[in-house]
Amino acid sequence: MSLLVVGSMAFDAIETPFHKSEKIVGGAATYIALAAANFVDPVNVVSVVGNDFPEEEMQDLRSRHINLDGVEIKKDQKSFFWSGKYHLDMNTRDTLVTELNVLADFKPVVPDSYQSSEFLLLGNLNPSVQISVIHQMKKRPKLIALDTMNFWMDTAMDELSEVIRMIDILVINDSEARQLSGEYSIVKAANKILEMGPKFLVIKKGEHGALLFNPSNAFFAPALPLEDVFDPTGAGDTFAGGFMGYLARTRDISFENMKTGIITGSAMASFCVEKFGTERLRDLTHQDIENRIRQFVDLVHFDIELV
Ligand code: AMP
Repeated sequence: MSLLVVGSMAFDAIETPFHKSEKIVGGAATYIALAAANFVDPVNVVSVVGNDFPEEEMQDLRSRHINLDGVEIKKDQKSFFWSGKYHLDMNTRDTLVTELNVLADFKPVVPDSYQSSEFLLLGNLNPSVQISVIHQMKKRPKLIALDTMNFWMDTAMDELSEVIRMIDILVINDSEARQLSGEYSIVKAANKILEMGPKFLVIKKGEHGALLFNPSNAFFAPALPLEDVFDPTGAGDTFAGGFMGYLARTRDISFENMKTGIITGSAMASFCVEKFGTERLRDLTHQDIENRIRQFVDLVHFDIELV
């Protein structure tokens, strides 16, 4: 079992109403890999960084069975940099800075050693980059999941539609689902998006949980009510990493098993927001994860006798 992840590795500078970070290591692929590595070995990453990306950071990721053979290091360029500022509700944020740097002309190369990856998670990147990765796979993975954002709907809708037709699961948030479908009702939005190609759709609703759809079923998982959210950055990627990591571990892509995947992703995301950046994801134990999943089960479990 192995998972191939394509996405950004970055420096982030994050501001919340309560704290402000210096430049810290982030990026979608980093969050995804850290979450997924708790379930699957190896996690094969395709990404690009500049000469400023710390070697200790790469070593730390490698020590967690995260394979970085597909991470290109561009010697004369800087890593992708993103900065964001959260509003008081901690659900919404403004992007302050996006410096693409190495991502501007990123041409991903899937190493031969990654060709046997059975599961593929395409992190939020230019859809043409996502398409190029699918084309490079000599054998189609058992399951392809894709994350994207409103920026690509505004600027590259044709390529985005093309890649959406090629994948199995789309993982997006509620505002993106509304924009993509042109429907306000989440159920109508889900039906329209499923007609665009994917067999499954996950709609993330931040602190309000996540929904899983296929054409005939729906499932809802709550987010864990937390007293304090320290930093929501990367929660969506961590969710996707936990979800796909779990599916890759179990190799079962039925709707039933995806329900557990959604709970697992939600549990991983609940850890992510407890500390700044990727910090909390680095000190997790299997026991922590098991206990957190149990909390989710307790949160939603009830017995009812219908009269
Ligand atoms: P999330 O909070 O799950 O939306 O993910 C935040 C992460 O996405 C940060 O660590 C950023 O470095 C990364 N990110 C932000 N904008 C982009 C972008 N345009 N392309 C790729 N990665 C991005």
